[in-house]
Amino acid sequence: MSGSILGTTKILGIMGFPVSHSLSPVMHNAAIASLGLDYVYVPFPIPVVDLPAAILGLKSIQSIQGFNLTIPHKVEVMPLLDEVLPIARSVGAVNTVKRIGDRWVGTNTDVAGFLAPLKEIECDWKQSPAVVLGSGGAAKAVVAACLELGCPVIHVVGRDAKKMKQFHGAMTSQLRDYNLRVHPWASIPHLLEVAGILINATPIGMANDPHTPITQSEMSLLPKGAIAYDLIYTPRPTKFLQMAAARGLRAIDGLEMLINQGAIALEWWLDQPVPIEVMRQQLQLTFTTR
Ligand code: NAP
Repeated sequence: MSGSILGTTKILGIMGFPVSHSLSPVMHNAAIASLGLDYVYVPFPIPVVDLPAAILGLKSIQSIQGFNLTIPHKVEVMPLLDEVLPIARSVGAVNTVKRIGDRWVGTNTDVAGFLAPLKEIECDWKQSPAVVLGSGGAAKAVVAACLELGCPVIHVVGRDAKKMKQFHGAMTSQLRDYNLRVHPWASIPHLLEVAGILINATPIGMANDPHTPITQSEMSLLPKGAIAYDLIYTPRPTKFLQMAAARGLRAIDGLEMLINQGAIALEWWLDQPVPIEVMRQQLQLTFTTR
């Protein structure tokens, strides 16, 4: 938000349930203020059963230009939109919607957000097998991203055999033919020995959870030069990343993914470059003051 709300103010927002924890309003309103635009970004708490009514109803409010979606709406929103772009179809989830004419068009900026910090790293991705812990919504974006990087094989590890089978089926039908394998949790040591990048796409270790998705001795199985990437951004760093740093690995947390998926969404809504550094600084400030 850049100043007063006027009769002309355009609205962006985030739909979720709950949504009060979201940091998106903080970073988007900082960018909007820095650009001096007549926009505001607000939270929309919408229970699952009300999502169809909300998507239809918000279309009538002409000042609403677009919105993000977070848990639990990223998949359920898809059939409610007028168009879903190919990247979101391949992931099977939409996190950003834009009003184009009188249509809601959905895309997925999580894939590019996840990739942003990896593109800064010099790495021969074709020689880097990926190991992904977890098979939820974020894991789908991670798999699509690892495919884009060119990882020769993507191993996804989960605790529920039935869900893993469903994950494999959903991903292979949505993405072109590639080397995706699913494994039970017990396979982790064997997979880590040859991994180039290990990604935690579970909530294990988030906030006050004292657990880690793998043990320190499992972490030490990763080859030197491997990358450990935790999608979690609270706490910073997570125990998972502390263990990775202790092993001398390259460690990346989820904050850059959060910032970049947001910046890419804002750029799409506004049709202009956005001040990503302002978004980064505002989020970092939020972390240091809370
Ligand atoms: P989700 O859809 O709920 O998926 C969570 C996954 O973790 C599921 O596969 C779940 O397995 C697994 N899991 C949960 N607890 C587990 C445990 N104790 N042991 C083994 N597996 C466990 O959540 P999501 O949306 O994918 O998000 C995952 C994480 O990524 C969250 O921490 C979220 O905050 C983070 N995230 C970060 C960003 C970012 O911008 N940095 C973006 C999206 C998500 P089951 O299916 O068997 O329960």
